[in-house]
Amino acid sequence: TAASLLERRERSFAAVQEHYFDSPPRIERGWREHLVDTEGRCYLDMLNNVTILGHGHPGLSEAVHQQWQRLNTNSRFHYESVVSLSERLAALLPDGLDTVFLVNSGSEAVDLALRLAWAAAGRQDVVAVGEAYHGWTYASDAVSTSVADNPGALASRPDWVHVLPAPNAYRGSHRGPDAERYGPLAADSIRELARSGRPPAAFICEPYYGNAGGMALPDGYLRQVYEATRAAGGLCVADEVQVGYGRLGSHFWGFEQQGVVPDIVTVAKAMGNGHPLGAVITSKEIADTYRSQGYFFSSAGGSPVSSVVGLTVLDALRDEGLQENARIVGGHLRDRLLELADRHPLIGAVHGTGLYLGVEFVRDRATLEPAAEETAAICERLRELGVVVQPTSDRLCVLKIKPPLCLTRESADRFAAVLDDTLTHGW
Ligand code: PMP
Repeated sequence: TAASLLERRERSFAAVQEHYFDSPPRIERGWREHLVDTEGRCYLDMLNNVTILGHGHPGLSEAVHQQWQRLNTNSRFHYESVVSLSERLAALLPDGLDTVFLVNSGSEAVDLALRLAWAAAGRQDVVAVGEAYHGWTYASDAVSTSVADNPGALASRPDWVHVLPAPNAYRGSHRGPDAERYGPLAADSIRELARSGRPPAAFICEPYYGNAGGMALPDGYLRQVYEATRAAGGLCVADEVQVGYGRLGSHFWGFEQQGVVPDIVTVAKAMGNGHPLGAVITSKEIADTYRSQGYFFSSAGGSPVSSVVGLTVLDALRDEGLQENARIVGGHLRDRLLELADRHPLIGAVHGTGLYLGVEFVRDRATLEPAAEETAAICERLRELGVVVQPTSDRLCVLKIKPPLCLTRESADRFAAVLDDTLTHGW
């Protein structure tokens, strides 16, 4: 039973290895945006930002199966798929971002991105933003500033990390139209760091603000911060681990939405549709500075199986029109959620675009008091009603909505109806 599995899990796992829900269902299989538990109950998976193609994708399983039967080995061998995947990634990025490192996760990608910046700039200071999550390895954890949604959380932040105010346009220090001030203020802080003798080697940020609830950065924010970082001799890292790969609908990459081109891009999650696969893409010039660190090697990063996964995901994204689906179904879902916001005062805001959405719950629309307990209870109730979704943000009062990009309009409507029902009849 689900309960006995939970007991066994608790015996062999540490308490810090959390699971979703107080009484989690025992999930056995998945199909597109649906999960099925051992009792045959079906759940709508509105949460899974990893399986971008959906669960149980037949083309992907077949490709993996065939590759496993033929060969799997480490990436120091010479084979077609690892080169093709690197070429395909580079082709999706602006000119100059043409050199690819393949790793196994988002944390590793961010770690490597920072090491590349350190090697290229010849120094260590890094500027990050508040309310951000970038991973659990040492360097990625050091720049993860989120206080709530941060599984790693170093006991103390190393002094090479400088944290800018969270550019949260909904409830940060500068709200609404005033949010335009975040960019110039951040640029001033970077100039000030340089004047004080600590010019940053890198600035790192998600180009679309995931951890704060899936909201856009203020217009011009990245342009202003990138200019100041480059003027100080630093590199600009775009963490596309969560937002990249078409989730925004309107753009394949988050940085495109801000009209900037980063120096280093990190990718993972969607890239492997749940298979451990990540990448760092940069210029040849920056990549070559890594020689000063020795050489780069990851046993399974870019293995034949991982590379075939990466290529099959890119093919399916294109052939199944998933970015376009994210734009259309995501737009429809956003409209439905805005309708709910008209009727339910608990909804303070609907953030995001495409299938990268957040519903922020507040107790009072004037004070924006976060409704964290209500959000947790709503998630539990939605799970009872067959919808899987989770709280996010530092205040844990935002429903994180990042379903597979194959989400249908019917499933989007079902989610909106179940949420409406829960907000109307209580949780
Ligand atoms: N960067 C961002 C923006 C992320 O959302 C995450 C994962 N939540 C990571 C990095 C770390 O990725 P992983 O869990 O694959 O190590």
